[in-house]
Amino acid sequence: MEVKTSLLDNMIGVGDMVLLEPLNEDSFIENLRKRFDHNEIYTYIGSVVISMNPYRSLPIFTPEKVEEYRNRNFYELSPHIYALADEAYRSLRDQDKDQCILITGESGAGKTEASKLVMSYVAAVCGKGQEVNKVKEQLLQSNPVLEAFGNAKTVRNDNSSRFGKYMDIEFDFKGDPLGGVISNYLLEKSRVCKQPRGERNFHIFYQLLSGASGDTLSKLYTQLSLTLHLTPVLITPNAMQIVGFMEDEVQSVLELVAAVLKLGNIEFKPESRVNGFDESRVKDKNGETIAYYARDALAKNLYSRLFSWLVTRINESIKAKTRHKVMGVLDIYGFEIFEDNSFEQFIINYCNEKLQQIFIELTLREEQEEYVREGIEWTNIEYFNNAVICDLIENNQNGILAMLDEECLRPGTVTDDTFLDKLNTICAEHQHFESRLSKNSKFLTDHSLPHSCFRIQHYAGKVLYRVEGFVDKNNDLLYRDLSQAMYKATHSLMRQLFPEGNPAKVNLKRPPTAGFQFKASVGGLMRNLQTKNPNYIRCIKPNDKKASHIFTDSLVCHQVRYLGLMENVRVRRAGYAFRQPYEPCLERYKMLCRQTWPHWRGPARDGVEVLLIDCSVPAEEFAYGRSKIFIRNPRTLFTLEERRRA
Ligand code: ATP
Ligand code: MG
Repeated sequence: MEVKTSLLDNMIGVGDMVLLEPLNEDSFIENLRKRFDHNEIYTYIGSVVISMNPYRSLPIFTPEKVEEYRNRNFYELSPHIYALADEAYRSLRDQDKDQCILITGESGAGKTEASKLVMSYVAAVCGKGQEVNKVKEQLLQSNPVLEAFGNAKTVRNDNSSRFGKYMDIEFDFKGDPLGGVISNYLLEKSRVCKQPRGERNFHIFYQLLSGASGDTLSKLYTQLSLTLHLTPVLITPNAMQIVGFMEDEVQSVLELVAAVLKLGNIEFKPESRVNGFDESRVKDKNGETIAYYARDALAKNLYSRLFSWLVTRINESIKAKTRHKVMGVLDIYGFEIFEDNSFEQFIINYCNEKLQQIFIELTLREEQEEYVREGIEWTNIEYFNNAVICDLIENNQNGILAMLDEECLRPGTVTDDTFLDKLNTICAEHQHFESRLSKNSKFLTDHSLPHSCFRIQHYAGKVLYRVEGFVDKNNDLLYRDLSQAMYKATHSLMRQLFPEGNPAKVNLKRPPTAGFQFKASVGGLMRNLQTKNPNYIRCIKPNDKKASHIFTDSLVCHQVRYLGLMENVRVRRAGYAFRQPYEPCLERYKMLCRQTWPHWRGPARDGVEVLLIDCSVPAEEFAYGRSKIFIRNPRTLFTLEERRRA
């Protein structure tokens, strides 16, 4: 009888890329395709999970599947995100190690879905009882709340997260969940005022406009003199209440969302031009002088502050009082290379450089540590280190962000072009020296650059950035009189969101720039991740039609490259491609040797040794670790597998 193996199966490709022979980009992609065609959307690179978006629901996320993967060894079953979640959870519970799950991939690749699968798996296998269930429910319901306010339909994804999210799930010493803490990163607030063609505003606006019923919302509309069509059931308020919001808080939040809407509906009557802006009067009643520019700034600020407040408020409600261990789940925007790349892409790509950096560091460190742990000699591995790119962006003296800040804070006329001049000048100055901005550097200067642009060689590819808007977006300033006006509002949440408008607390210090804040929060995130045991999920989008069953080679190839997956396999294979604890190894192959079949009496390690000698596998192919056997060449494993099947 043929035993179907989970890792080696010619029909559906290999389950672990380290076993791929020959290994090159073509075979890598071919393997993904083969598996995708057979609904095998998960593939390993060692302990890393590659996840292909199937764009349809597969019957592999059932409670039965959860049971199947529960408490099983990583390699025992076919590759699955549940296997990773189980491994991470057990390591947290049994070995007392904080974990983090790092999910990366481009927009629409399935990061958010993956993060929810991990969370629901962990929720299904950990703890029991009424209290614990309430915690689980709150943690899970925080997802729809934040998605309503932070996700939007884009051309790439109907439910695209427009903010970065990191969530620590907190556990007690038994491994029961106690609560959670969420951090949010850079909401794409420009969307509040302007959406690219074919895209929409944040979901909550539509929910508010179409899904409202009952007193709450009709009151809201009357207050704001909005005439809206009311139809039943709004999901978000329910989720908000489960998470722990009071009814009046929900109402307050929705009022502010409606206020943002209302701001968008204010029309201005052009009067004269002052300071380069159209100075205008609000057409309806109050006649206050206000410009579109300020109106948009206010709408964006109000919305993004509301979003941050929501996160803080959710945390107040779900944060545990004590905690023993945590599992962090990071769902953050992937690398973005568009035709038109602006400040947002620059910031997002910087974040991805940092993530790539710790990926490299931690993967190598993990490899190294395992070798040391197992008492096996470690040989150094050459790899591309993207630290130079991070440095180019974040160096305190003349990194791009520092130069942008310097320009933003400089007195005199500051424009995007003066910023670009500065970049180019510094670049030219350094051209003669060995420096980050030198010829070999990642800041690319050539004569083909379009006007008002600079180009960076990111680890994932070259990206051309247009400087337009950099200064403004980095400054992120709101006119003081607007903050003051908001602070005067009778709406208490509104007042809370604009504390700097309080005349009693006039703070003449300039608020930190957007770039500065982002750098600080990403720095904090990286330090946090460094202290945890990392688990990686690399998401891949099979096509850009949001369609099932279509696998576009070129698109997948592009992602395989910029996710650095080939490099990842290379690192993994550099020493010993495959490793397995002695017991399951003996169990699997004992039938190949008379001395070990049907039972081996003695330590499993010795049994494996007897078995391998008996199978005449060359000694240099193996290393005996303390708890695992290390196999250098995937072919060896194939040979054993073939003999098993014969
Ligand atoms: P963004 O960066 O834009 O937030 P993302 O990587 O978070 O993108 P998701 O929102 O997770 O992408 O996935 C996009 C869509 O793909 C989902 O709305 C869903 O329709 C589909 N999808 C993703 N993963 C799965 C899955 N495992 N099973 C079925 N459908 C999926
Ligand atoms: Mg998402």
